[in-house]
Amino acid sequence: MIRAGLLWLSEQSRIFGFIRGNGLARRLASRFVAGETVEAAVAALKRLNAVGISASLDLLGESVTSHSEARAARDTYLETLDRIRHVGADANVSLKLTQMGLEIDERLCVENVRAIIAKARSHGSFVRIDMEQSAYTEKTLQLFKRTLHPEFANAVGVVLQSYLRRTEQDVEDMIALGACVRLCKGAYQEPATVAFPDKHDVDANYVRCMERLLERADYPGIATHDARIIAHAKDFARRSGIAPRRFEFQLLYGVRRDLQQSLRREGYNVRVYVPFGSHWYPYLMRRLAERPANIAFLLGNIVRESLRRS
Ligand SMILES: Cc1cc2nc3c(=O)[nH]c(=O)nc-3n(C[C@H](O)[C@H](O)[C@H](O)COP(=O)(O)OP(=O)(O)OC[C@H]3O[C@@H](n4cnc5c(N)ncnc54)[C@H](O)[C@@H]3O)c2cc1C
Repeated sequence: MIRAGLLWLSEQSRIFGFIRGNGLARRLASRFVAGETVEAAVAALKRLNAVGISASLDLLGESVTSHSEARAARDTYLETLDRIRHVGADANVSLKLTQMGLEIDERLCVENVRAIIAKARSHGSFVRIDMEQSAYTEKTLQLFKRTLHPEFANAVGVVLQSYLRRTEQDVEDMIALGACVRLCKGAYQEPATVAFPDKHDVDANYVRCMERLLERADYPGIATHDARIIAHAKDFARRSGIAPRRFEFQLLYGVRRDLQQSLRREGYNVRVYVPFGSHWYPYLMRRLAERPANIAFLLGNIVRESLRRS
């Protein structure tokens, strides 16, 4: 119930203006978001690299409504890739197709994404296409299979979500394609017709898909903070003779930092997803939906601040 409410709020962009002005919301966001600028993101990734952890930088923002917004996002990614190379950091980037203009003009979106992957490839880097709501799953996977993967091979990778009923088949398709996959559980509010409503099914599907990816895919990203699933991955890899260098664990900035560091100390490859930029509201709401403990505190503070202002 709380999760559904927060995920609904994450899609109400008009609330953002109000939330952005709230001091506590900004402080809470700073736990999950590296900062509003490329420089802040690069500073965060240097701190991660210093303890042997790689990063993937994500410029926050989705569902842009104009060509100029989409191009501005593209330019920030190009600048980010240059900054990563300039400082010699171990990092790649993650992006969302709706931020590149998917909803307004597919050709513009492809043009923008091509420019980013071409630069990443020339810098020896990589671009991960994040997965958004199920309304975009088919389009994203078609674009990936028909255009991006044939043109750029493994300089680009995709994300699959274990809460979707279709994902087991998508895992097989991506393995057959030789694609580089990040597997996550899925962060959006989805109808039961397309996604498993029961968390046990989501987790069981995660384990099934993960085992297939570990066994047969090219360098899968195991993106979860679920300690039981991580223990299972380690055990499965050990029993199957899969060396730790053949996959990586991926976690979110500010979430389970203890786990990030202990995995690294155990010798696993670890990559942290580092979001930055001013459009942090939907991202923050999705993170709160995953862990409602902070919500009462946040809402209480917002109500108090608004009463003070009125
Ligand atoms: C690197 C990375 C990339 C991702 N990319 C995408 C994407 O492209 N598309 C997409 O839909 N989703 C993406 N996600 C989000 C993902 O789908 C889940 O919503 C999120 O990771 C929470 O699920 P979980 O696997 O950690 O398991 P859960 O079962 O939700 O959580 C397991 C445990 O992790 C801890 N935990 C989880 N979330 C939090 C939090 N916010 N704060 C504090 N503790 C927490 C808690 O201890 C919890 O008990 C990504 C996640 C990661 C790690």
